[in-house]
Amino acid sequence: METGEWIQAAAEADLTEGRLVELTVGDRPVLLVRNKGRVHAYAGECPHYKAHLARGVLSGHTLTCPSHNARFDLRDGRLLSPPALNDLAVHEVKVERGKVWVRLGEAPRIEMPGGSDDRTFLIVGGGAAAAAAAETLRREGYSGRIVLLTQEPVGPYDRPSLSKDYLSGEAPAKWLPLRGEKFYDRLRIELATGSRVVALDPRSRTLTLADGSTRRGERILLATGSVALRPPVPGIDLPGCFTLRSLADADALLAGLPASGCVAVLGASFIGLEVASALRQRGLEVRVVAPEQLPLEKVFGPEVGRRLKEEAEQAGVSFHLGTTAFSVQGNGRARYLVLSDGTHLEAGAVVVGVGVRPAVEYLAGSGLAETGAVPVDARQATAAEGIFAAGDIALLKETAGGPPRRIEHWVEAERQGRQAARAMLGKSPLPREAPFFWTRQHGKAFKYVGHAPMWERVVFRGDPAKGSFLAGYYVGDSLRAAASLGKDRDAELIRLGEALEAGRPVSADQLADPSFELAAPA
Ligand SMILES: Cc1cc2nc3c(=O)[nH]c(=O)nc-3n(C[C@H](O)[C@H](O)[C@H](O)COP(=O)(O)OP(=O)(O)OC[C@H]3O[C@@H](n4cnc5c(N)ncnc54)[C@H](O)[C@@H]3O)c2cc1C
Repeated sequence: METGEWIQAAAEADLTEGRLVELTVGDRPVLLVRNKGRVHAYAGECPHYKAHLARGVLSGHTLTCPSHNARFDLRDGRLLSPPALNDLAVHEVKVERGKVWVRLGEAPRIEMPGGSDDRTFLIVGGGAAAAAAAETLRREGYSGRIVLLTQEPVGPYDRPSLSKDYLSGEAPAKWLPLRGEKFYDRLRIELATGSRVVALDPRSRTLTLADGSTRRGERILLATGSVALRPPVPGIDLPGCFTLRSLADADALLAGLPASGCVAVLGASFIGLEVASALRQRGLEVRVVAPEQLPLEKVFGPEVGRRLKEEAEQAGVSFHLGTTAFSVQGNGRARYLVLSDGTHLEAGAVVVGVGVRPAVEYLAGSGLAETGAVPVDARQATAAEGIFAAGDIALLKETAGGPPRRIEHWVEAERQGRQAARAMLGKSPLPREAPFFWTRQHGKAFKYVGHAPMWERVVFRGDPAKGSFLAGYYVGDSLRAAASLGKDRDAELIRLGEALEAGRPVSADQLADPSFELAAPA
């Protein structure tokens, strides 16, 4: 089959208004949608992780991917929201004598804008926010110089995979880069790898690098993410103890894993639980040590914590909860842990997943990170003219009047990077979306939308003890966030995210009632 050929795809009568249908056309998955009577055809898979978009949610012209909530405008296939980076291919459609014909096309690529802007924009960091900002600058028509300074030896890559498919061995290293070298060359995004920034003078907008050189920019975006913490435990710095933040960390961990036997994981939050899952896939024995009684209980409640623990136990993970590491012991290398309850735990390697802090040391004395993070307004602008911050380090003023929030999610960092790029060009902010994150453990995805650092009660649809479920986090009668486990809950979670964004109330009774349809916005 050649591109350009018309291929008969479906009978027109089979396409009902608003229903998303996936078909194979030629050899490609194609999404067909009838919208206001007209039939449209798009790429059938999300450009992010190839989820089937027919399982997604359509609201007006916006299609949300069921997997990680990327959004596309179905009028032209344009990407509205990450984690996808590319637009959706829109295929030509004709309807003749009741048959739908499709001519396959390709997704448009981001082009280098014309023009002669002689400004330089500097981006500090090489992660989610930095990469999204650099691409958005080009999408928004900026033709000046973009220099992305990252201390890492490589360009932006898929960090969430490090504790999932990369660690389990399912994803080879070549799958990790977000873009290839050619992409950055074509869009003239200069990747200054191995460039650690050690200071910023906000008045002159000048960065100092570890080698003593300086760089000045008309605009600067700070997007340096987080640093993994190590608890003050004797022996925690011994060889054989690992944290996991970067690709280099993941490679060091992979190289230091025992061929068999036991790995101890300190911390039962996302990184710890994901690492436990990936290492079980490798056939290693895994023991998770954490002070709480149930994993993530404080964040999601005891029912969800119990379920996550049971899923892990069924996959063979053992837990030592209500205890902490007292010391790491071994002769020049971690061999075992002594726990605060006196247990001695053999460990061929120790993975430390006890939390992170914003990476802001280089901002000491700049006045921009007095509280350990960088306060920003709705445009991601810091207190210094021409300097913006996005991602894990950004402390966002809550426009609705609540306390400022700092969010450590991949998609949120990308969204903030896009927002910052627009602001660097003086463009108006995009509407804020409800924060979203996902984790995947033992083959199951747990997803969360909204922001509820504090909640008063959790309301469930479905049984959190077994099967798929939806959880709503309420303060009084107000839904603040929702979580789900299981693919069949994807659409409901997306609808709840839309309700949160629109300020549309969903009562606890409605959420708990499986017959109540969580509707599209009016
Ligand atoms: C293993 C792992 C798994 C994760 N899984 C998920 C997940 O499943 N879902 C989810 O929502 N979130 C996940 N996260 C969190 C998510 O990756 C982060 O919230 C996100 O990467 C933050 O983006 P960022 O751009 O702020 O920082 P980062 O992506 O961390 O990028 C920061 C970059 O800045 C560089 N840098 C730091 N200091 C300097 C300096 N002084 N000079 C130059 N460069 C510097 C860093 O080396 C790095 O390249 C995961 C995180 C990790 C570590």
